[in-house]
Amino acid sequence: TLILAIESSCDETAASVVKNGRCVLSNIISSQIAIHTLYGGVVPEIASRKHIEKINQVVEAALKEADVTLDDIDAIGVTYGPGLVGALLVGVAEAKAIAYAKKKPLVGVHHIEGHVSANYIEHPDLEPPFLCEIISGGHTHLVIVKDYGSFEILGRTRDDAAGEAFDKVARAIGLGYPGGPKIDKLAKEGNPHAIDFPRAHMEDAPYDFSFSGVKSAVLNHLNKCRMTGEPIVEADIAASFQQAVVDVLVDNAIRAAKDYHMDRLAIAGGVASNGALRAAMEAACEKEGIRFYRPSPIFCTDNAAMIGVAAYYEYRKGTRHGWDLNAVPNLKLGER
Ligand code: ATP
Ligand code: MG
Ligand code: FE
Repeated sequence: TLILAIESSCDETAASVVKNGRCVLSNIISSQIAIHTLYGGVVPEIASRKHIEKINQVVEAALKEADVTLDDIDAIGVTYGPGLVGALLVGVAEAKAIAYAKKKPLVGVHHIEGHVSANYIEHPDLEPPFLCEIISGGHTHLVIVKDYGSFEILGRTRDDAAGEAFDKVARAIGLGYPGGPKIDKLAKEGNPHAIDFPRAHMEDAPYDFSFSGVKSAVLNHLNKCRMTGEPIVEADIAASFQQAVVDVLVDNAIRAAKDYHMDRLAIAGGVASNGALRAAMEAACEKEGIRFYRPSPIFCTDNAAMIGVAAYYEYRKGTRHGWDLNAVPNLKLGER
């Protein structure tokens, strides 16, 4: 089974051909980072316009690299939510046009189901059920993946997503957009124990997260330095902030794995590419006898290969969308 998958939910225009759900034949990503960097974040209208310029080229490149034609494809998978509405619409319209012209089935994919599915690409032994921590720009969820595309939510963020906190802190210390990779890099030169930023734990909901407190603590630290003349050491702030976030992400995931007797833990989403998190989670899992799974960094951030994997499992279950498929910008996890 060959799936052509399209992803355009945010600022990456991406297309991929995936064979039998696990084998990525091509993975084309056209990033808009350069243009959005000028504005310090993603500008929705610019994102839509860039997608419409690039989408045909990206799809063509994905077919070419996979060495297939549209006639070889069994179904078209596309992200229909959540994300920026104008950005999603470009991918959805492209997928519909191809499916209609070539008389192929259309499978709408939940972007977050895609992030989770990225784990299947390089781990052929991984099958549900397993515990997954989803940590991206807009989501922080701890879930049990009960079956392909079926989730039991154990915990979620009460306020900011982990990636959002990285981006906001990066902006505050002058690193610019996108913040996560820049903090990851700068933190390597800093002392993670220099500043004691708070780790939020909710007594009544042990798997929930809150990252607005640590973000505010960074802003307070900066203000205090400016008022007292204390030097601002960006590398120490980056390292200490990152350590605070990583500690909570690891603690909650390990606690859930123990409480629910899950012996396999996966991470997913852009923040899952963070070097310190990967190392800390791996060490914690090894100590507890839990098998640890994580996608390569290129499959953690937005890409269409993960959408192709998720689309394959939806296709196999019989999921088909009609010509009325629309973008759903605030699609929740577990909804379709
Ligand atoms: P969502 O998937 O929730 O809709 P999104 O698609 O914008 O949101 P992703 O592409 O999954 O998010 O991830 C982007 C986020 O990951 C950004 O917030 C970015 O700062 C963060 N990120 C990327 N690389 C790293 C890294 N190395 N360390 C920490 N955070 C990172
Ligand atoms: Mg992005
Ligand atoms: Fe994403």
